Amino acid sequence: MPKEKILVTGGAGFIGSNLVRNLIYNFDCEITVIDNLSSGRMANISDFPDINFIEADICDFDFSLIKSQDKIYHLACLASPPQYQKKSIQTLDTCYIGTKNVLNFARKCGASLLFSSTSEIYGDPLVHPQTESYFGNVSTLTPRACYDEGKRVAETLCYEYSDSVEIKIARIFNTYGPGMCPEDGRIISNFINQSLNGEPLTIYGDGSQTRSLCYVSDTVDGLIKYMENDCGPISVINIGHDNELTVSEIAQVIQRLRGQPKAIEYYPLPEADPKQRKADISKAKELLDWMPYTDLESGLLKTIDYFMTHKTQATVPVTF
Ligand code: UDP
Repeated sequence: MPKEKILVTGGAGFIGSNLVRNLIYNFDCEITVIDNLSSGRMANISDFPDINFIEADICDFDFSLIKSQDKIYHLACLASPPQYQKKSIQTLDTCYIGTKNVLNFARKCGASLLFSSTSEIYGDPLVHPQTESYFGNVSTLTPRACYDEGKRVAETLCYEYSDSVEIKIARIFNTYGPGMCPEDGRIISNFINQSLNGEPLTIYGDGSQTRSLCYVSDTVDGLIKYMENDCGPISVINIGHDNELTVSEIAQVIQRLRGQPKAIEYYPLPEADPKQRKADISKAKELLDWMPYTDLESGLLKTIDYFMTHKTQATVPVTF
């Protein structure tokens, strides 16, 4: 029987490369990765010599150059707030033009498409925890809007193609773990780097804003279970953890695990930074029989180990 063909856009990125590793180990498949390496890194996929790697941007890639695919995980997009805000127009293009190109290719192949959406489509949520039926509270006119609104319009594109492409929209919440770019400016990468460099942790705002952090192998398990499940022509499912912590609590856990005293520097809260975020994962539990099983401390210890071997210079807090 011919091997299943799976395309992963953004497969050299943090979640993408962890997904590729899981697919290689658990499926008899031929994997193609398209990544423009804007945030993805070759180091993330150097252990996978058998994949077809194409360095290209989904916004202008000629998809007729690759074989027909059975399944497409569409993950390509900058996802760290400092990065996507720096390249806001590129982010909007990736979300709209890139997603449209991937959808056209999926339609041509008859492939199922899993689109990596985000908890950001809920914006600064007024409903808590966030269920898939919540429409969100997002402004079009903020530095985060290129990503939030980009992902929202990409979901709408998916909806418009769902008469001819099987669509699975995964709204991925904050994810951390090995494979993260140490310089991406996100909370876990910043805090761990700062801790490894013996520096105070940088809290934006008063640290009372909340996030629920999911370990990457759990996130990837959820994405694969979603792809492998029949959920109809179009579906949307939250993939994330439901263990909500304040940013201050996250800082404390890291300093405790590292045996360091509490040392914090406070910086202004970036514009439009969501005040609270917690995934309602009832739907994933029910439809996919999925839930995250890695507790924060074990996940952070593995991530700290990873960062120790990928140590970087002190991370300067990003000013918005
Ligand atoms: N944050 C922080 N210090 C940092 C980096 C991030 O206090 O060095 C805060 C940020 O303001 C936000 C939360 O941590 O409230 C999560 O930020 P991240 O960039 O990881 O992702 P987001 O959930 O905002 O997309």
